[in-house]
Amino acid sequence: MERSLAEIETIVRDRICRVCSDRTADGNCGLEQPSACALFRLFPQVANAIQSVHSDDITDYIQSIRQGVCSVCHDQAGDGTCETRSQVQCALDAYLLLIVDVIEEATGKTFERTGAGPMISLAAETNQ
Ligand code: SF4
Ligand code: SF4
Repeated sequence: MERSLAEIETIVRDRICRVCSDRTADGNCGLEQPSACALFRLFPQVANAIQSVHSDDITDYIQSIRQGVCSVCHDQAGDGTCETRSQVQCALDAYLLLIVDVIEEATGKTFERTGAGPMISLAAETNQ
């Protein structure tokens, strides 16, 4: 059964917000503006960027996110850097490994990824 984008977003919200460090004790998003969270503000682009990749290497997903999501995100500077990402305040970047797994699981795709160890700083990995 193919899931709609709205259904996939609901699954991602359930799995990612639950572990997000910005979540408050009462289960709400603790950001000053919850709608500012790039993961859900740009969710169609996020889902598309992840679904367009067929790889067992997480760096291919990072590249796709940079091209399809960061490129249209207002937080990214003209030179491709992102202060929010540098400060580990972008949930999309911080939890990308898990987000990829959840979306691929929800859409029936699974891979054994290389380098899928403990949560890594994707900002450090791409040097941006
Ligand atoms: S910052 Fe984003 S991922 Fe984290 S709790 Fe808020 S909406 Fe969820
Ligand atoms: S890493 Fe920066 S540019 Fe990319 S989605 Fe997050 S906030 Fe936007």
